[in-house]
Amino acid sequence: MSEIRGAVRPFCVAIDYDDTFSTCPETWGKVIEVLRQAGARVFCVTFRRPDMVVTDFPGEVFYTAGRLKADFMHDLKQDVHVWVDDRPELIGENPERRRFREILNEAV
Ligand SMILES: [Mg+2]
Repeated sequence: MSEIRGAVRPFCVAIDYDDTFSTCPETWGKVIEVLRQAGARVFCVTFRRPDMVVTDFPGEVFYTAGRLKADFMHDLKQDVHVWVDDRPELIGENPERRRFREILNEAV
């Protein structure tokens, strides 16, 4: 079995639910299984409110309730290394990366 080389451990993959996982749960289920066998931690991060329960994702589900996903997960101290999302504009930018980018821009 292969593994994710050179990755920070655990390598965390966030998969969106609506119009991503929901497009084909069987296929995404296989993808998730392959990633987990390679050592990744895979979970769902959805823009939904907690009362809009996701029932068929195979694993943990985080509900941002309309907050940008990167900020939300940063506040929970949950690392995300790779995002899989049909609407990347709803991810936003991790505040630490934003600050790093700002420092780089100030140095130029
Ligand atoms: Mg979506």
